[in-house]
Amino acid sequence: METGAGSDMRGITATAERQADGSYRLNGEKRWIGNGGKDVVCVFARSEAGPVALIVEKGMPGFDAPDRYDTLGLRGNDLRRLTFRDVRIPKDNVLGEAGDGLRIAMHTLNNGRMSLGTGVVGATKRLIELAITHTNTREQFGQPLAEFELVEDKISWMTSYLYGFESMAYLTTGLVDAGVPDYSMESAMAKIAGSEFHWYAVNRVFQLHGGQAYMAGSPIAKALRDARVFPIFEGANDVLRAFVALAGLKSVADEVADLRGLNLADPIGSIGILADYVGQRVRWRVRPDRLDAAHPTLARHADKVVDQVRQLRATAEKLLRIHGRDIQARQRQQKRLAHVAIDIYAQIATISRTTALFDDQGVQASGQERYIAASFCNRAVTRVAEQFERIDDNDDEQTHSIARLAYNRGGYTPRLP
Ligand SMILES: Cc1cc2nc3c(=O)[nH]c(=O)nc-3n(C[C@H](O)[C@H](O)[C@H](O)COP(=O)(O)OP(=O)(O)OC[C@H]3O[C@@H](n4cnc5c(N)ncnc54)[C@H](O)[C@@H]3O)c2cc1C
Repeated sequence: METGAGSDMRGITATAERQADGSYRLNGEKRWIGNGGKDVVCVFARSEAGPVALIVEKGMPGFDAPDRYDTLGLRGNDLRRLTFRDVRIPKDNVLGEAGDGLRIAMHTLNNGRMSLGTGVVGATKRLIELAITHTNTREQFGQPLAEFELVEDKISWMTSYLYGFESMAYLTTGLVDAGVPDYSMESAMAKIAGSEFHWYAVNRVFQLHGGQAYMAGSPIAKALRDARVFPIFEGANDVLRAFVALAGLKSVADEVADLRGLNLADPIGSIGILADYVGQRVRWRVRPDRLDAAHPTLARHADKVVDQVRQLRATAEKLLRIHGRDIQARQRQQKRLAHVAIDIYAQIATISRTTALFDDQGVQASGQERYIAASFCNRAVTRVAEQFERIDDNDDEQTHSIARLAYNRGGYTPRLP
């Protein structure tokens, strides 16, 4: 990304001028580019025909990767500033056509989000193993830490959430394997849920290791440093939440005759571009039809998901009628819708995975998974209900006023009695 273009891709200022021979002249600067010291990088720039994606090779005159950033974590990533001064990019190094840059960027980001949302599954597994080993061997008050109920809670919480988010990872990657052309919504949901769950899990495992985790060289300290950036890069999570909500709202608006005139588009920078890009294809049903095949043992959970999907659609339509186009600025409501959509997706993934397991190995043999899946779904139901409740019963006005007051005062400065 660039200094002026972080979450908002519209701010990109790097330029690519097409030359008579079909090559491009690239000028500009990028910052925080992962593995920027490698032989080849893909650069997005403005061109007369729209955004263009260019392959830039090490050694091309005018291309430099001068500074390596020192970072809090992910220190194996060779993070660089890249500079381009009249770099000649031959025609053969143009990816797709000029104007295709956004589509290519979206595709790359979808893959990045999917890798992040699924990669944290493996990282969390390792953390749980470390926590189990530590709490079983470290004794306090005359017994292993693992024997305390509040330690059990943490291990159990991580295990059942991991099962849910791992199921989400299987379903999302499964969609790609099945050749589903557009998985932008699912990869965004996997990224948000996976990165936030991982952060909470790191925090809990850190707590269980006590002071030992805080010592330099501790693997948990490293995990903590690495994990903090996951909700920031590949699309900041709040930006992705808005994307998930707006893409869904747009599909509802397009479906309902008297809402079509709202013409939802371009709400906030790249979200608008994204919503436009997927709007025509995304249906806010998150494939509920799959639930018909849920194992009878899981029917209770499946029925609840079907109800949630109906309520989500009705709520989206209601909010569109209340706010009209202004829904694009109502991020608090968007966030609630996005959370519901993510939890619905996670329950669908969990139910389908567990159904496949029961069909394959029988319910008795998979007793542990049955508990874990039920626990994940039950908690998701509670979270979803809470989000729906807060759509109508919230303190959004006060929240707005408190923030504005804090902005005006420039900090926390309550008057003293
Ligand atoms: C370790 C690392 C590796 C990276 N690797 C790459 C790379 O390989 N290639 C590349 O191109 N870039 C890379 N980046 C850049 C990364 O993509 C950006 O950091 C990211 O897009 C966020 O942009 P920003 O940091 O400028 O934050 P900003 O856009 O300034 O956002 C900061 C915060 O503001 C809030 N915010 C922003 N917009 C909104 C909104 N619309 N609604 C509500 N809240 C909002 C969010 O809380 C957000 O976290 C990397 C960054 C890091 C730290």
